[in-house]
Amino acid sequence: MKVLILGGTGEARALAAALVSRPDTTVVSSLAGRVRSPRLPVGDVRIGGFGGPEKLAEWLVDARIDAVVDATHPFAERISASAAAAAARTALPLIMLRRPGWTERPGDAWHWVGDLDEAARLLPSLGERIFLTTGRQGLGAFAGSDRWFLVRCVDPPEVPLPARMELLLDRGPYTLDGERDLLREHKIDVLVTKDSGGDLTVAKLDAARAMGLPVVVVRRPSIPDVRSVASLGEVLDWLGAR
Ligand code: NAP
Repeated sequence: MKVLILGGTGEARALAAALVSRPDTTVVSSLAGRVRSPRLPVGDVRIGGFGGPEKLAEWLVDARIDAVVDATHPFAERISASAAAAAARTALPLIMLRRPGWTERPGDAWHWVGDLDEAARLLPSLGERIFLTTGRQGLGAFAGSDRWFLVRCVDPPEVPLPARMELLLDRGPYTLDGERDLLREHKIDVLVTKDSGGDLTVAKLDAARAMGLPVVVVRRPSIPDVRSVASLGEVLDWLGAR
């Protein structure tokens, strides 16, 4: 069986590692090519967009793919839609591996918003100094803001950017102590995050709770109407059943 893993996440790398040694399975992992030096999964890797759902469908046929696992980030909306359309077009089985979102705990002061624009509109009511951890895409939503931002992302962002900001290039995993120090050092009033879920970047939420800081949480986009599971084991079972 030849499996395409749409990746760019730790879960996708773990799945490739779990499948690569199986004698009955060939794996190809696909990355968008956004990050300059990505953490590569084991096994075969292809990098770059496919050119939309029709081209992805052609690619799936040409590469003789038998099953597709969409293990992309919960906010990678376009590739997930593309995978759903291409799988329908080629009648190939597709499963989505989506880590659960984060949930509010006692002591949290979360403000849920639908997108980055709504987050930007909410900020003036919450504080002056903002820790922005939503990634380098979409920072233009905050370009018109008069607040001060600490922007953390993996690679340098493109313009437009907030007028008053400091850039921190870093990549998780992060620790509670490290996140607390960062919030203190920069006198942060508010944290802004996507509801990415997972353990690697959750420490910022624990730090904000410990320090009584409000958090603006961007809701996940809706997912296409395909089978979706939360664990690697469920994907392996699904592949095994084929
Ligand atoms: P997106 O908006 O859904 O995708 C934009 C375009 O990038 C897609 O239409 C597709 O191009 C290409 N693409 C995306 N993921 C791909 C993949 N795994 N393999 C081949 N092409 C891919 O995605 P995004 O939000 O820019 O994220 C890009 C990648 O970074 C994803 O793979 C995702 O798992 C990872 N990531 C995203 C976030 C986030 O917050 N969005 C965070 C961490 C990691 P074509 O239409 O030309 O095929």
